[in-house]
Amino acid sequence: MAIEKPESVYRHAVENQYGLGAFNTFSLESMIAVMEAAERQKSAAIIQVSMGARKYVKYLKTYVDIIKLMAEHYSVPFFIQHDHCSSIEACREAIAAGCQAVMFDGSHLPFEENIRQTKAVVQYAHKRGIWVEAELGRLPGFEDFIFSENTEYTDPQKAKKFIEVTECDALAVAMGTSHGGVKGTDYLPFDFERFQHVVDLMPGYPFVLHGAASLPPELIAACNEQGGKVEYLRNCSEDSIARAVLIGAKKVNMDVDNFLVSTTAVRKFLNEKPSVYDPRKYLEPARDAFQKEVEHKMQYVLRSAGRYQGGER
Ligand SMILES: [Zn+2]
Repeated sequence: MAIEKPESVYRHAVENQYGLGAFNTFSLESMIAVMEAAERQKSAAIIQVSMGARKYVKYLKTYVDIIKLMAEHYSVPFFIQHDHCSSIEACREAIAAGCQAVMFDGSHLPFEENIRQTKAVVQYAHKRGIWVEAELGRLPGFEDFIFSENTEYTDPQKAKKFIEVTECDALAVAMGTSHGGVKGTDYLPFDFERFQHVVDLMPGYPFVLHGAASLPPELIAACNEQGGKVEYLRNCSEDSIARAVLIGAKKVNMDVDNFLVSTTAVRKFLNEKPSVYDPRKYLEPARDAFQKEVEHKMQYVLRSAGRYQGGER
């Protein structure tokens, strides 16, 4: 009974002023890592599936069914969201597969067209009791398979209008974060003033940050010490994301840090024990590292840890 309605999970986060972590999963290991982290930290979590993961797992509905079955072992609440659906059709497929929430990304479209398409998704989804996240503004970096070089920060007044007209349930805004990091020498600045403005216009509304992993240089260094050649890309710092959560970010997508630490764990294991070829032996430390990183985000960035005691509200 750990799968709950997005409405109630969000309401709890709004009432208790913390952020919900949304973590992309693509395998049993990643799904278990997030769920174990949530249970250990007494935190809710959003289990996400991206277009890339959908391709990787081959059968979306089967994968969603597995998430639901796995969730039954846990007492803290989860819901399943499909990340970045690029078309109305992709949203319909995600809903048919059993996701409780979909993200429709019309951020690359002109404002009026984004409104028109988002509205169509909302109408379709709400009839079926499904939560819809939309996006306004543009983040730099890779979004599944599409690369965007341009950043377009979200205009607070436009965001208000967009939410009122489309009736979307949550809105992803561009305030300085990036999908997967960009080239640079220091952490990216987060536009707190702009974010505060949009929150003030719609207090309590669930605003979402995408690309909110931080790529701490020490995590990249740890991977490269094990033979990795990961580029030192930059994103907003964990301190900035934590401050944004205090201001009003209610859902925070954070992935690349989890991917990075699990890759480091595999590299380290294989460097230290080159004779081992049983995949379980190196996938286990990879899963543990993923879980530890998610727990770290719940404790120090999202402040979602300890919010659910013994499965009770
Ligand atoms: Zn995103």
